[in-house]
Amino acid sequence: MNDEFFITEKCLKFILEAARNFYPNEFLALLSENDCALSEIYIIPNTILGDTFSSLDLWMVPIGINTIGSIHSHPNECFTPSRADLNFFEKYAINLIVKKPYKSIKDVAAYDRCGKRANLCIKNEF
Ligand SMILES: [Zn+2]
Repeated sequence: MNDEFFITEKCLKFILEAARNFYPNEFLALLSENDCALSEIYIIPNTILGDTFSSLDLWMVPIGINTIGSIHSHPNECFTPSRADLNFFEKYAINLIVKKPYKSIKDVAAYDRCGKRANLCIKNEF
């Protein structure tokens, strides 16, 4: 049903830049939306990625933030979610994976809660 998601250009740029900065480590953050577009990004301290991806410490998520999505980077050119990724995706309505070379929206894939690929579009702010 809800197979198209929107992201602001600012948020997208932040994600790409963060992924480049964290490389070769993975980068994980939570997302919240405004006006039906993903617009805010929250990097959660003490997150452990890779095989133990699901060990995101949700107690570290700031209170009062309505996170609806997640974003994490892959240190390669592959979008394919791992099994741990898919388990984690169940927690959020929108899940993004960003892959190398972390340059544009073409390097970002969106998945819904069930791990089904969804469209991601840039929503321009006026
Ligand atoms: Zn992953």
